[in-house]
Amino acid sequence: MYYGFDIGGTKIQLAAFDQQFKLVKQQRQATPTQDYPEFLNKIQSMVQQFDSALQTTGSVGIGFPGIRDYHDGAFISVNIPCVIGKQLEEDLTHLLQRPVRVENDCKCFALSEAVLGSAKDYQNVFGAIIGTGAGGGQVTAGKLCTGVHGFAGEWGHIGINAYVLDKYKIPVWPCACGLKGCAEQYISGSGLQNLYRYKHQQAHGSALDTITAEQIMLLVERQEPLATAVFEIYVDMLASSLATIQLSYDTDAIVLGGGMSNVSALYEKLPGLINRHLFDRAESPVILPPQFGDASGVRGAALLHRDEM
Ligand SMILES: [Zn+2]
Repeated sequence: MYYGFDIGGTKIQLAAFDQQFKLVKQQRQATPTQDYPEFLNKIQSMVQQFDSALQTTGSVGIGFPGIRDYHDGAFISVNIPCVIGKQLEEDLTHLLQRPVRVENDCKCFALSEAVLGSAKDYQNVFGAIIGTGAGGGQVTAGKLCTGVHGFAGEWGHIGINAYVLDKYKIPVWPCACGLKGCAEQYISGSGLQNLYRYKHQQAHGSALDTITAEQIMLLVERQEPLATAVFEIYVDMLASSLATIQLSYDTDAIVLGGGMSNVSALYEKLPGLINRHLFDRAESPVILPPQFGDASGVRGAALLHRDEM
């Protein structure tokens, strides 16, 4: 039996899958974010409940909203402060008395969609999450490729193409990661908001308080001129960023995830636009919507132990 955890800033989701990866049991609980022992105890009690209900000792994979520190392998997460600086994988392996694998949640999404989901018939797949931020992971022949330190696939922090910034007269914006001009500031859902706010200020001379990516997409549906123009800029910038992925990984499919993956226009527009950012003889991969969406996290986490199948 394979257990997969999807740990978020508000909910911990646990699902159990059988050998054929059919869902057998699932459960949701609130995430303790401030107290590390409480956080560990919650995970332990959920695993114990599943073990006793299913009469087994399931393998444990965890999708986690954060990254490992480059130097000591400790975890860093904005959403779950109590885990910062902790050796989460080792602590849980010890506590649960079985091997535990913890991986970035965007990489679990990529693994799930590449192995079981919409890209299961493709060889070299990139899962690109476009939500509040932009993250992802690459899966080759069913294997997650994380790199030596685990940050392969952090495409949101690759600098956006200077050509598109210049073409649309958009400034270089700072990123929360400390760098400047990261793609995430332009091509995530938050990036769409940044672009809209900037162009609104230019057009009307007044700052806009807040507007969500969903609200902007409603304006696009109503063919509001500013929103329509900003969306065209957004899609071209996203295409340029995905062209960088294509030149890095040479994929045959990119699966979109996160809130922006619900925008159907992206699947029509992206392949042609990506081609314009690639040199001759390079071609856009197929751009696919996710099959499992939010349910991908637990599946991908459970798949982390698939190598042992
Ligand atoms: Zn950044």
